[in-house]
Amino acid sequence: MATQHSSHHWDQETEVVVVGYGAAGGVAAIAAHDAGAKVLIIEKMPHPGGISILSGGGVAFARSAEGAFQYLKRTCNGTTPDEVLRPLADGMVGIIDWVTELAKVSGTEPSQSEVRGHGTYPFPGTDDMDSIKLKDFPAYDAFPWAKGLRGGARLFKMVVDNVAKRNIEVSLSTPAKSLVTGPEGEVLGVLAERSGKPIAIKARKGVVLCSGGFENNPEMKLQYFQAQPVYPVYLGNTGDGILMAQKAGAALWHMWHFHGGYGFKYPEFPFAIRHVWAGPRNDKRKMIWIAVDRFGNRFMDEYPPAPQDTGARPLEYYDPDLQEFPRIPCNLIFDEEGRKLGPLAMVIVNDARYHYQWSADNLVEVEKGWIKKAASIEELSKQIKIDPKTLAATVARWNAQCAAGTDNDYKRPPGTMMPIVNPPFYAMEAWPIVSNTQGGPVHDARQRVIDALGKPIPRLYAAGDITSIFGHLYLEAGNITECFVGGRIAGQGAAAENAS
Ligand SMILES: Cc1cc2nc3c(=O)[nH]c(=O)nc-3n(C[C@H](O)[C@H](O)[C@H](O)COP(=O)(O)OP(=O)(O)OC[C@H]3O[C@@H](n4cnc5c(N)ncnc54)[C@H](O)[C@@H]3O)c2cc1C
Repeated sequence: MATQHSSHHWDQETEVVVVGYGAAGGVAAIAAHDAGAKVLIIEKMPHPGGISILSGGGVAFARSAEGAFQYLKRTCNGTTPDEVLRPLADGMVGIIDWVTELAKVSGTEPSQSEVRGHGTYPFPGTDDMDSIKLKDFPAYDAFPWAKGLRGGARLFKMVVDNVAKRNIEVSLSTPAKSLVTGPEGEVLGVLAERSGKPIAIKARKGVVLCSGGFENNPEMKLQYFQAQPVYPVYLGNTGDGILMAQKAGAALWHMWHFHGGYGFKYPEFPFAIRHVWAGPRNDKRKMIWIAVDRFGNRFMDEYPPAPQDTGARPLEYYDPDLQEFPRIPCNLIFDEEGRKLGPLAMVIVNDARYHYQWSADNLVEVEKGWIKKAASIEELSKQIKIDPKTLAATVARWNAQCAAGTDNDYKRPPGTMMPIVNPPFYAMEAWPIVSNTQGGPVHDARQRVIDALGKPIPRLYAAGDITSIFGHLYLEAGNITECFVGGRIAGQGAAAENAS
């Protein structure tokens, strides 16, 4: 995919080309522009926003750089060098000021009202971490093609407003296809397609890859993930930038690690549907179901500390004796009380072709057959082809633990436990789903893409999910922080290159 072209016909020329218009791409473009460079953003899809527009819009910040560094070091568990973590930790301290500045353009400001008070896990430095969101302002309706969480729409509207204010050129429906490199391996530009026609774009200073992960690339998921299948939420991220960087010589990291939980997949849609407990865990919020494997046995804390981080992991278990994944799909079992507690799923999608409003009482989905219904646990087990005695025993044990107020088996917090006693009973198939992948080209402290022998590839930068630092456990709200901190470093770095 990297094409050697020292003397090339160029259709368009700029100083910095940013590939991908999610949060990382927008921020990198803003930073490169503010550092004095002429910038072009190219986006593959007809609309910008990527996963960023669908997200909760939480941005992690730190009260102390040292605390943040200690936390990031433990959460990455050796998968990311200290010298790469330091700039992120430093950037997390100033990030509120940076977001506050950008938010003024949209007439809003960061809000601390949803402050959690600490990082996701009880690691050193956790008390030095927290997250912000933007205060409400008219943003959600600005993106009629995307239906996601409101926080992400606000955050992305702020990015869009700042890109527009600076008159940064944006080219939609323009997928990057390959990098153009010179004799020393330096990146000279990008070959892309616009309106179906090839176009060569010269980048006189550099290219910043912000094209997200590979969550919708089945071949890459097959090669890098243990669990199969893992369904995506966003369709536009197919690992293009990762492959282009590889062709230019990039080393890869964290390819196995994805940010994901469990959720639903139906033939009507090419993407997965998240359940409504997928955000940060609330220890006092009832979760209506238990999850059982194909034999009817419970196997996990269904509401782990970060449901969207590790929720998928227990499903990855491969049974070597059976040579299969007995938890893919698993079944979520609940009762009539649970069914009545409100919509159990929410469809989020950044694609104008699709939308679906989950019903408030879940009955439309029962009608569709997405949720199986039966008068008794025995009848339900027959419908989902599970041994009735095993499922009855599993439900009875769960109900006894609810009565005792302790989940001795998987340590689910007592405040989240809810017995399954009132007929009718329900079952739903659930699958591992990927919100976003964390693996891609390795970067250094300056967000330069590093080759397989440890040297920077000249004039090639990356930011956001394509090159995430998270290689072990995720810090909630940390990915968007990476878009801001890494995006700014990358944009400034590219802008500071000597123009060719
Ligand atoms: C439901 C949900 C909630 C989340 N909540 C949070 C949260 O609150 N806080 C947090 O930190 N993280 C959250 N995340 C994760 C976060 O949204 C992502 O990690 C982050 O938005 C990634 O930003 P990005 O700019 O790297 O990628 P994206 O926003 O996905 O942007 C990548 C862009 O590149 C484009 N692209 C792909 N290939 C090409 C190509 N060949 N040429 C040109 N363009 C291309 C894509 O179409 C896309 O527009 C959440 C994720 C989900 C799914």
